[in-house]
Amino acid sequence: MSICLNTHIENVKRNHPDYDKIYKRAYRKIHPTYTKAAVEKRREYYKKHKEEFSVSHKAWLAINNETIYKPEICSRCGKKRKILGHHPDYRFPFELEFVCYSCHKLIHNNEV
Ligand SMILES: [Zn+2]
Ligand SMILES: [Zn+2]
Repeated sequence: MSICLNTHIENVKRNHPDYDKIYKRAYRKIHPTYTKAAVEKRREYYKKHKEEFSVSHKAWLAINNETIYKPEICSRCGKKRKILGHHPDYRFPFELEFVCYSCHKLIHNNEV
């Protein structure tokens, strides 16, 4: 499964100085399995998908600089919803497809 722009945007938005602390504490409460092994697994996951993460980052910066215009309407179903940037191909960081949550889910379900 590929990592999309939405993941990154969510991460950036949560820029509150204490966010990390609060989030971690809450996370451990809900997920008692948040162990060292799980952290290691996540690190591995990040390593494996490093390229995708950096591509998402590039695209995110371009949207922020208004180099890329992010529409308010889903390019698949035409509904006005929260729009995510989907990368059909990570070799082209600025080739984004802007879709809503449900269409995005469909895209990834079809990938499997
Ligand atoms: Zn849609
Ligand atoms: Zn996607």
